Amino acid sequence: MNYVDRVLENLIAKNPGENEFHQAVTESLKSIESFVCSNKIYEEMSVLERLTEPERSISFRVSWKGDDNKIHVNKGYRVQFNSCIGPYKGGLRFHPSVNLSIMKFLAFEQTFKNSITGLPIGGAKGGSDFDPKGKSDFEIMNFCQNFMNELFRHIGSYTDIPAGDIGVGAREIGYLFGQYKKIKNLHEGVLTGKGLDFDGLEGRKEATGYGLVYFTQKMLEENGNSFEGKTVCVSGAGNVAIHAAEKAQQFGAKVVTMSDSSGWIYDPNGINLEVVKKIKEKSRERIYKYLEFEPESKYTEGKFNWSIPCDIALPCATQNELILSDAKNLVKNGVKFVSEGANMPTTIDATKYLVSNGVIFGPAKAANAGGVSSSVIEMSQNNSKMTFDSKFSNEKLKDIMESIFAKISSTAKEYGNKTDYISGANILGFKKVSSAMLSEGIL
Ligand code: NDP
Repeated sequence: MNYVDRVLENLIAKNPGENEFHQAVTESLKSIESFVCSNKIYEEMSVLERLTEPERSISFRVSWKGDDNKIHVNKGYRVQFNSCIGPYKGGLRFHPSVNLSIMKFLAFEQTFKNSITGLPIGGAKGGSDFDPKGKSDFEIMNFCQNFMNELFRHIGSYTDIPAGDIGVGAREIGYLFGQYKKIKNLHEGVLTGKGLDFDGLEGRKEATGYGLVYFTQKMLEENGNSFEGKTVCVSGAGNVAIHAAEKAQQFGAKVVTMSDSSGWIYDPNGINLEVVKKIKEKSRERIYKYLEFEPESKYTEGKFNWSIPCDIALPCATQNELILSDAKNLVKNGVKFVSEGANMPTTIDATKYLVSNGVIFGPAKAANAGGVSSSVIEMSQNNSKMTFDSKFSNEKLKDIMESIFAKISSTAKEYGNKTDYISGANILGFKKVSSAMLSEGIL
């Protein structure tokens, strides 16, 4: 058994039941296996053992009072995975599925992703099993304040700078920030994804989705294609999905699907994003409402099964949403490119099936790095006490995403298959973090 397999075996034994964490580490380490095994220093210095164990995992109680006058209790988490190349950085997720395994997988992925950006940020993730759906504004505020009553002691603008993720947008970040400021008496850039009415960055909200499309456009170009005139399936109808669909449309594509956790819509005329924004951003309703505005579209209840023919698929909802049967549907219908907007949306067997059938694959840790990159621009804005405009932040985002693609593409060429962007991303991310770990000593 080689070094990588031994580390994986131990990790699975030491972290029982943490399936998402096992999956994320397995996917990354298997794709850098030959690179790691060809240099003894990694084993001699136990780099993989250290890289796969979080520096700190914090779990805490969040008690809050609902509109029903009852006391509710949720679990809160912050997993600070690796700080070798900068302060911890990564989003907060509020969703009933949140558990330690999901936090660890996301924080591990974030460490590689942040390294790939080339920016000085370490990896972390946090959140709660609190479900914001159906809660009043007052309940959301009450929960966020109580969440911050514990989180504040672990974060700071030079320690750990959380952002949003599923269930955490500008509204939640605002309440979290307000409470941090109240407790610490410190108006600092401790959170990103803030509203534009105080310290937020123009363009941050759009950055992950737009960044995904900037990255994917480069991937398409390298393989003789572009978004122009293509049919695109998008999953999700949240922050990432809406802005990915918007930029794909601006680049001349026709986006025909979107989804939420209740079901999915297919609009053969192309998704009307103004309607989706109205439903999702303004009134926070279910996606089936779309039919009321676009009667020629079709709504199907349940999980999106990727059965609509398309050239490009952009999974932008959640982890493991694109499974083997979905990959088979996509291949059968002639998909050419899959690029991940969500974190780990494609299962390992689905990824293998797609790649072995000639589909060009853009992995999340590179393709969706636009959000965190834009967050670093927000941090720079806050530290410099300046206000950057949307033109500046959008151009910077585009530069960063194009440079990420160029770097993972050249790494893929250097270490094997020129379109193996999965290995390209993982080797690139690993090289920088491991080199910093070796330089900083055994910690
Ligand atoms: P949002 O909460 O804005 O949207 C999430 C979307 O995915 C919603 O439409 C939601 O539907 C759907 N969804 C969530 N869980 C499930 C599920 N179990 N099954 C089916 N659909 C589901 O989150 P974001 O758009 O911010 O995040 C989406 C993905 O992108 C996540 O994987 C996140 O980690 C990743 N990401 C986000 C970044 C950001 O800047 N926001 C940065 C990098 C990655 P419903 O409303 O019904 O729950």
